[in-house]
Amino acid sequence: MITFKHVTKSYEDGTKAVDSLNFTIEKGEFFVLIGPSGCGKTTTLKMVNRLIERTSGEITLNGKDIQDYDIHELRWDIGYVLQQISLFPHMTIGENIAVVPELKKWDKNKVNKRVEELLVMVGLDPDRYRHKKPSELSGGEQQRIGVARALAADPALILMDEPFSALDPISREKLQEDMLHLKRAIHKTIIFVTHDIQEALKLGDRICVMKEGAIEQIGTPHDILHAPVNSFVSGFIGVHRGLPKEPAIAEYMERGPILAEEAASLNKIPVDADFSEALNLLLNHESIAIVDAGAIIGTLSRKDVIRLLANQQSGGGAVRG
Ligand code: ADP
Ligand code: MG
Repeated sequence: MITFKHVTKSYEDGTKAVDSLNFTIEKGEFFVLIGPSGCGKTTTLKMVNRLIERTSGEITLNGKDIQDYDIHELRWDIGYVLQQISLFPHMTIGENIAVVPELKKWDKNKVNKRVEELLVMVGLDPDRYRHKKPSELSGGEQQRIGVARALAADPALILMDEPFSALDPISREKLQEDMLHLKRAIHKTIIFVTHDIQEALKLGDRICVMKEGAIEQIGTPHDILHAPVNSFVSGFIGVHRGLPKEPAIAEYMERGPILAEEAASLNKIPVDADFSEALNLLLNHESIAIVDAGAIIGTLSRKDVIRLLANQQSGGGAVRG
């Protein structure tokens, strides 16, 4: 269905966001891209619907170079779900879901039926939800609408970029379960980006582990767990498995409100993100903002982490390598 051949994206400043990627995704496959922040997951995804143009190499969809498709047709035929779904605030839920079918000029009846069917599919009662505005929905419900909207015109391919990572753990789990059902019901080809190995193992038919713009390993969840090809992959699984016990951001952050100005300048991370994600950010930043359900609830600084490490050294608890 999709083939990447020696695909590279480099920026003018010399950054190679991805470097000579090679892989093929089969029709109906649930393909997960995973790796630390900045390894090139989003770039890989966005090159498929040409939100980012590759620098070199070849990407084919059903045997045809994506460059040879009409760009609008290409985008309409590829569903796209983002971490923080942006629904049109002045439109109803029904209208939001119907955007692409409307662009494709489906007739009214067909659109209405489709909206109803999709709301049922993502677990929301059509009578209750289709006339609501996005602001009347919780974060989890909005993400569901995002999924419904991406499926609306029945695309053969769906791209999902950390679609559940901004949600609280309970909504997240619920949406993962729904995704499993959906996957069995609709047989779509899905490329799904996450930095959460549990999510990858749960949902993926195959998992592609990336590091610094390159592929470290592609394999089934079983392969990745039982036959990691190198220490990066095993380390990545190990850290995310939480063995030895991984600290939680919530335990070490400084809770409390921060100034709007300061908030704007800080990198943000969900409170339930993996601690290793926070550490990655703190390599380059003195402090980061911690977000829960869309709101900043505090900060985590390099000092907080050093204090944590110092305590572990002296307290003898599980020290992570
Ligand atoms: P991920 O989604 O895995 O976190 P991205 O694909 O967003 O990573 O980014 C990959 C790399 O490309 C990062 O090092 C990022 O800083 C870099 N990058 C992304 N956009 C640009 C840009 N416009 N100019 C320069 N570098 C960029
Ligand atoms: Mg990304």
